[in-house]
Amino acid sequence: MSALKFIKECQEKVFSGERISVEDAKNLFNVPNEDLKELAKCANEITRDYNGNKVDVEQLNNIKKNACSEDCTFCGQSAFFDTGIETYQLPSPEEVVTKAKKAKEEGAESYCLVAAWREPSKKDFTNVCNIITEINEKVGISVECSLGFLTKEQAKKLKELKVKRYNHNLETAKSKFPEICTTHTYQDRLDTLEIAREAGLELCTGGIIGLGETREQRMEMTLELARIYPEEVTINILVPVPGTPLELQVNLPNSEITRIFSVIRFLLPESVIKISGGRETNLDDAGEELLQSGANGIITQGYLTMDGNDAQKDRKMIEKIGLEA
Ligand code: SF4
Repeated sequence: MSALKFIKECQEKVFSGERISVEDAKNLFNVPNEDLKELAKCANEITRDYNGNKVDVEQLNNIKKNACSEDCTFCGQSAFFDTGIETYQLPSPEEVVTKAKKAKEEGAESYCLVAAWREPSKKDFTNVCNIITEINEKVGISVECSLGFLTKEQAKKLKELKVKRYNHNLETAKSKFPEICTTHTYQDRLDTLEIAREAGLELCTGGIIGLGETREQRMEMTLELARIYPEEVTINILVPVPGTPLELQVNLPNSEITRIFSVIRFLLPESVIKISGGRETNLDDAGEELLQSGANGIITQGYLTMDGNDAQKDRKMIEKIGLEA
C-alpha cells in the first residue's frame, strides 16, 4: 500500500472513533519526507474535526526560579550547571494576582503556576495554595500547576482548590531518560502523573525534543503519551542553554518536529496538543505550520527561563491562519 493511502486509512480509523494501533503509529512516524505534507494535512483535519478552530492560549508564571536540586541536562534552572540565571523566591499572592489578571485581559484561558524544585516543601506548598486561593477569588481564570513531585494529600488539596490540570512532563523516552537525568527516575515521573490523576486532576504531560534522541526514541515517548492519554500534551523544542551539558546540541530539522506533532494528533485526537518552549526560536514561522499539522495550543508571553512572543503578536498569527485565539 502506498504511504498516502496508508495515512488516509489511519485518518479514517480516527474519524470512526477507533484508536490506531502501535504498528500504525510506528509506520506513520516513518512515512517518507515527501509524504509528510499529507501526514500534516490529515492531522490538521483530525484537529479541526475533534477540536474546532480554537487555539488554546496559555500563559505561564515561573513562581520560583531556583537552583533546582535535580540534574536535568537541558535545564537552565538546575543547580548542577553554571548558567548564571537570575533566581528568586515565591512572590506574594498579590503580585501573582496582578499578573494573572493581565494574562486574562490578554486573552489567556489558563494560567499555569510553575516552580523549579524537585517537590514543594510543606511551607512552599502552603504558600502556593494561598496564591491559588487568591487567583480563584480575584481573577477567575483556569489555574494549572507544575510543582514537581506531589504527595497524594497535596494532589487532593490542589483538586479541592479547583486546580484544573497538573503538568508533569516525561521529558523524553524511557530509554533516553538516564542520559538526561540521574537524580530521579522515569518511574518517579509516571508515579506523579498517577497520583495527580487519582486525585481527579486532568493531566498535562509531554517532553522536550531535540535532546539528541533518535526518531525511534521520539516515537517511544509518543507511544507512552498515547498510553497515558492526557487531556493535554506539551511538546518543547530544545533551546540549548549556555552552561548546560546540551549547550552545543544541534537543532532538530523542522520535518522531525512536524512528524511528532502530526503523529501525536492521530493518537490523541481529543487532546490539546501544545507547542511549548522553543516555538519562536526553532520555527521560522513561530508555529503557524504546526498549528495546521496537529497542534492546537501555544504558550504566549514567554517561558520559564526565556522570552517569547507577546500575546498580541501571537493572536495576530493565529487569526492570520484562519484560527481563533
Ligand atoms: S527540569 Fe525541573 S526538575 Fe529538572 S532541573 Fe529543571 S526545574 Fe529541576
